[in-house]
Amino acid sequence: MPDGIRLIGHTAMHQEQYIKVRGMASPYDGNLIYWSRRLRTHWAAGTPMARLLRRQQGRCSSCGLTFRDGDRLEMHHIVRPADGGTNRDNNLQALHVHCHDQLTARQQAERNGYPRQGLPSRGAV
Ligand SMILES: [Zn+2]
Repeated sequence: MPDGIRLIGHTAMHQEQYIKVRGMASPYDGNLIYWSRRLRTHWAAGTPMARLLRRQQGRCSSCGLTFRDGDRLEMHHIVRPADGGTNRDNNLQALHVHCHDQLTARQQAERNGYPRQGLPSRGAV
């Protein structure tokens, strides 16, 4: 072989493993859980919800259950904006919608002086 020319071995080549996108999944389908797991460089991976999902390792901060595809999620302010809470990640949690409803109702009841066990049931006047 002439000087300055060398044969590159197979192992020296850049390799990347590709995993086929699941079923009919699309980056535009709104399924942040799937896409935040799949693509850390996806455009939605830098969104606050995707960062929270990664930080919480895909678990709800309230009930501790792992979020599943199709679950409805919301962001919860640990310190609510009305009390000076910010929109920074360290003041936010990802929760199931129903967990968020329960937590918000409990916090509101505590602010209003209801005892913890005496919460009005949902829909009560
Ligand atoms: Zn939950």
